Amino acid sequence: TKIDNYYGADSHVEVLPIIDSTNQYLLNNIERLTTGDSCVAEFQSKARGRRGRQWFAPFGSNLYFSMYWRLDQGIAAAMGLSLVVGIVMADTLRAISGQDIKVKWPNDLYLDDQKLAGILVELAGKTGDCAHVVIGIGVNLMMTNPDPNIVNQKWANLGKVDRNLLVAKVVKNLTSKLTDFEQHGLAPFLDDWLRLDNFVDRPVKLLIGDNVIRGVAKGINEQGALILEQNGKTNTFIGGEISLRSD
Ligand code: ATP
Repeated sequence: TKIDNYYGADSHVEVLPIIDSTNQYLLNNIERLTTGDSCVAEFQSKARGRRGRQWFAPFGSNLYFSMYWRLDQGIAAAMGLSLVVGIVMADTLRAISGQDIKVKWPNDLYLDDQKLAGILVELAGKTGDCAHVVIGIGVNLMMTNPDPNIVNQKWANLGKVDRNLLVAKVVKNLTSKLTDFEQHGLAPFLDDWLRLDNFVDRPVKLLIGDNVIRGVAKGINEQGALILEQNGKTNTFIGGEISLRSD
């Protein structure tokens, strides 16, 4: 399938029925991809989250999507890129579903204080300063056999979303906003983050290994770090090992 993305180039979207992981599929095929090429699947047998954690990805009418992106600024920009992906996904799903979808630092979408979607950016390789990354997105649109531990009743409303339209909009919006991010960094996106942040001005705790850090969430800075207010002081936190929770 070819989708005009309004930028003169064409992105290819491969439609797969069953795959181990959409991210792994692109990682395995990276040599033949150009930036913006994507794939979707109906089912993932080994979908993953951060640090090899499992992502529940059964048959249903969900979105299991991955896109290859050549990141000219190198791997240091991957954190910011993943935050921009969250903003784009939240806004695209809001526009299509009318639901009040939010972002959670660093890599999830929330609906009614529950996890609706996960985003996982993985490094495929480097050439010179440039990093080749794969962006994976799993959205619970409609679970036909939900996991009772993580089921969210609101998912049923998102099941009405037209997935063809959703994928077309996601490809178009990601291509546009990731290009903006590459040119201008995170600065133009900070207000978008505050508008969409599920936890802004709320007491939260950060789980960092065995440590728990408490504070009030205040959005993100231009490096993509989480801003936390603690005893009247502002501190920032960055890193792939941190999990944020409400407190
Ligand atoms: P957190 O920050 O919430 O601790 P994370 O962002 O590190 O988690 P991910 O690695 O993105 O989490 O996702 C994996 C986790 O998400 C799993 O451990 C499980 O708890 C949860 N999960 C797995 N599948 C789904 C799903 N389909 N919908 C919602 N949550 C899921």
